[in-house]
Amino acid sequence: DAAREALERLSRVIPDFPSPGISFRDLTPVFADGPALRAVTDALLEPFAGRYDVIAGVEARGFVLAASAAYASGRGVVMIRKPGKLPRAVLSEDYDLEYGSATLQVHDDELPKGTRVLLIDDVLATGGTLAASCSLIERAGWTVAGIGVVLELSALAGANKLPGRDIQSLQVV
Ligand code: IMP
Repeated sequence: DAAREALERLSRVIPDFPSPGISFRDLTPVFADGPALRAVTDALLEPFAGRYDVIAGVEARGFVLAASAAYASGRGVVMIRKPGKLPRAVLSEDYDLEYGSATLQVHDDELPKGTRVLLIDDVLATGGTLAASCSLIERAGWTVAGIGVVLELSALAGANKLPGRDIQSLQVV
């Protein structure tokens, strides 16, 4: 279909970025192409139709997709941000990276308890980022309606960190 065709045509693999031995999947050409961004956005939303109230995006590439999906569906965006960016009281979740650790934060007072949140990101790699995001959503009293990603890197088995979640990936490599 249109989204998968656009991903095949436009996404790039960048060797040794950000460090030697890593093959970085670069989706920025997909974001830069209007019909491709629209097709990818529509394809991310389609499996979850009628099952979400708001879209959550993870800083920073997830914001592009979340905003596009929110506009397309008439929903709002919840911003899951890196530490120190949100100005009011936050929930914080620490998680492990391959080397070191990271933190994500959310304002938990923006939506009523029970809000169904569709979580969107560009790449599912080790799954740590999306697992931490799911924790934040549930600690805020909301529910995770599902997880939509453009690209899943199957060798990293990120889905194992997201047991029981409805994960829909447009492309699995
Ligand atoms: P995680 O390992 O699943 O937690 O991924 C960490 C973060 O890095 C996520 O927000 C991904 O979007 C991003 N990421 C990991 N690998 C790649 C890649 O190859 N291309 C683009 N983003 C990536």
